[in-house]
Formats: sequence, C-alpha cells, structure tokens
Amino acid sequence: MNEKIAKLKEIVACSERMVFFGGAGVSTESGIPDFRSVDGLYNQKYKYPPETIISHSFYMRDPEEFYRFYKDKMIYQDAKPNMAHKKLAELEAQGKLAAIVTQNIDGLHQMAGSKNVIELHGSIHRNYCTKCHKFYDLDYIIQSDGVPKCSCGGIIKPDVVLYEEGLNNDDIENAIRYISEADTLIIGGTSLVVYPAAGLIRYFRGKHLVVINMSPTQTDSQADLLIADKIGKVLGQL
Ligand SMILES: [Zn+2]
Repeated sequence: MNEKIAKLKEIVACSERMVFFGGAGVSTESGIPDFRSVDGLYNQKYKYPPETIISHSFYMRDPEEFYRFYKDKMIYQDAKPNMAHKKLAELEAQGKLAAIVTQNIDGLHQMAGSKNVIELHGSIHRNYCTKCHKFYDLDYIIQSDGVPKCSCGGIIKPDVVLYEEGLNNDDIENAIRYISEADTLIIGGTSLVVYPAAGLIRYFRGKHLVVINMSPTQTDSQADLLIADKIGKVLGQL
C-alpha cells in the first residue's frame, strides 16, 4: 500500500490540471450511506425501492411519500467533510486541481472549501418553487411538515436530478471540458455504474488515470494506479 501512496504522491506532484470525479463513496466516511445500498430497514419502512421513490413519476404521483423518503434517507444535516473533501479543497487552493465532478448532492465539497464543483445530480441545498421559482434553502425543507410549500402555494422541488430526469446540459458540457483538458483524472468512491454520469470519464485524454475505490470498477484495467481502499483514508495520506 505504501508503494501505491508513493506513486499517487508522485502523480499529484507532477500534475497541474487534475480533475476529481467522485461518487457516493466520497461521503460514506462522513456518515452518509449510499441510498442505493438497500438494506432491511428500507424494506420495512418503505413499500418501494429507492430507485422508484426517487423518480420523477413517483415524485409527481406521490410527493408526500417522496418527501418522507427524501428527508429520511437523502438529507444528512449534521454530516461534515472528511479527509477526501478537505484534501481536494487543498489541492484546488494550491492550483493543482481544476475541478471536482461529483455525483453527490450533499454539498460537502463546498463545505470543505472547494470552489469549482460540478454537481451532476444537483444539490439538496438548492430548492425551488415549481410555480414561481422562488429559492428555498435546506433548512426550510427540513422544517416544513410533509411536502414543502412556497408562500405562493406552489410545491417546492429540490434541485436534485431524479431518476427519469436528464442531467443539466451546462453541467455535462462543463464536466466534459474539464475532463478532456485534465492531465490527471482521479476517480474516487464510485463504481461507475450510474449513467450518463459514468460515461463522462471516456473524454479523458490525459497522462494519469487513478482509480481509488473499495470495489472493482469498469475502468480498473485502464488505470495507471488502482487503489482498493477508502478514498478519505487514501487522500489523507497525501
Ligand atoms: Zn412559489
């Protein structure tokens, strides 16, 4: 393992325009479980799998049940950035990391101080009235009883990409631009199974591809450096 950390240090030292592409595994060390990892508890408490509840059609059909799951399983108000978030913010401040592309919606990268964060799946911290588009913060969503409503009477929807919904085009273009211009791409805490987000990494043309993930990914064979460990633990050693 020490050899791999040494190699990672070497790669980071000679990189000037890195991009980090991350997923749920980046936040598990902050106590936010991957909502896709359906456990027995879900089955007891919810009649449908998370993929069904967190879908556009389900949200339209049953916002009450959607918000019950959303507030319970998607929002972790007390979560704090871990070593992965902190180290990435440091690398950006040093001018080595150009952008973070994340599939997470928790806002922990910004909380750690990162500025250029492309949130492919949106953020729980942004919420808009579906009628008048007024902005609401996360506190308002948490404090509202059941389905959060705007002062105009409209339903407030989180700026989170639900299943069946498309990704924001500007975010995709931005992500492609940064990834295609990167000299090093670090993929961390994601098994690269969620499309179209996972497809973005094929735009990488740079020198070093690093994969840091607990379980195997489809990119492992192309990686110059593969570390099967927790991302916070690994980046914390840099
Ligand atoms: Zn409104």
